Amino acid sequence: MRILVTGAAGFLGSHLCDHLLEKGHEVVGMDNFITGRAENLAHLSGHQRFSFIRHDVSNFIFVPGDLDAVMHFASPASPNPHSPYGYVNLPIQTMKAGALGTHNTLGVAKAYNARFLLASTSEIYGDPEVHPQDENYWGRVDPVGERSVYDEAKRFAEALTLAYHRFHDIDTRIVRIFNTYGPRMRLDDGRVVPNFIKQALQGKPLTIYGDGAQTRSFCYVDDLIEGIYRLLLSDEHRPVNIGNPHEISILEFAEVINILLENLVPLTMLPDRRGEGDPERRRPDISRAKEVLGWEPVIGLEEGLRKTLPYFRENL
Ligand code: NAD
Ligand code: UDP
Repeated sequence: MRILVTGAAGFLGSHLCDHLLEKGHEVVGMDNFITGRAENLAHLSGHQRFSFIRHDVSNFIFVPGDLDAVMHFASPASPNPHSPYGYVNLPIQTMKAGALGTHNTLGVAKAYNARFLLASTSEIYGDPEVHPQDENYWGRVDPVGERSVYDEAKRFAEALTLAYHRFHDIDTRIVRIFNTYGPRMRLDDGRVVPNFIKQALQGKPLTIYGDGAQTRSFCYVDDLIEGIYRLLLSDEHRPVNIGNPHEISILEFAEVINILLENLVPLTMLPDRRGEGDPERRRPDISRAKEVLGWEPVIGLEEGLRKTLPYFRENL
């Protein structure tokens, strides 16, 4: 297939490009570098089946040649207000990438008669009352909260994707991605994995927001990309959760980092962000992915962190 990947210079987008190329496909990457990095794609420079277009997906998209699939990953993704790359500090760009960007990329899929895959998120469940979250849960999102620029843009994106499927018969997929980590995350995007690894490597205290009792379930990037690739090749139009159901508290996660690095740095307790919509608990129910895609993660947290550490060491 010839596949357009938006957000190609980002963490997930660059791994996705690698995977698609390994599978023998041709890839057109697109990015405007608002949170991504050219370094993430540097190794593909000169690759015969890879090309790149620097472009903001909020504007009309033109791709020369045919396309068989469009995978829309372009969007800021970190909620942290302390980082310049956090979507709270890029609110209009985030809404435009999720809303106009999804409209434009769906338009491309329609024009080229290509299948379409939307990178959605566990954030569409908001601060959930249902645990673990399965795809039938409608979510609990504050439409005017700090995180709403991301959450509502993604909810709109899902609705628009299904509208193109139902009305224009576009062959669509929706993946709801849960917290994922691995090499090529921005060290300074403020998400908990890069924050803790960076702090631990620098011998600085690990910053815990609130009491650290809030939970997350972390998936290693290779597992996630495999699940997304299987979804692309499937016939599943309904949203599919892809993530690792192993749930731990942020406090436990800080301990895992400290033990792994054999570098016992202290913890520093910072103000709680639950008032700004920081979800209390998050864990994917992956029954649908297991049943429809035959997929489940195989890389445990410690193994995944070990695979991630060299990148952080090199880039600090
Ligand atoms: P990232 O910030 O590393 O990558 C996003 C990429 O999109 C960046 O390269 C950025 O420059 C690009 N981009 C943003 N707006 C753009 C625009 N208007 N035009 C062109 N390019 C634009 O983040 P990521 O973690 O790789 O996330 C990728 C996608 O996966 C996002 O859509 C995000 O919502 C989704 N997602 C990620 C996670 C996760 O844990 N990493 C979880 C849920 C959903
Ligand atoms: N968090 C933290 N310290 C940090 C960064 C994040 O305690 O330095 C917490 C954050 O409040 C949230 C969880 O870790 O409860 C995961 O945050 P992240 O920014 O990775 O993404 P989220 O899962 O909230 O989208």
